[in-house]
Amino acid sequence: MKDPVCGEEVNNTTYKYTYKSVTYYFCSPMCMAEFKKNPDKYVKNIKEK
Ligand SMILES: [Zn+2]
Repeated sequence: MKDPVCGEEVNNTTYKYTYKSVTYYFCSPMCMAEFKKNPDKYVKNIKEK
């Protein structure tokens, strides 16, 4: 799966966050914190791809 914030491939499930019934995985706590600040921004980015 890909980190929705930085776009890096994520090979662990340590940092995850569920938003609107979808679970997202992150490469680091920083990316997860960034996502939580503005989830809609990053969810939109994923849908555009
Ligand atoms: Zn990241």
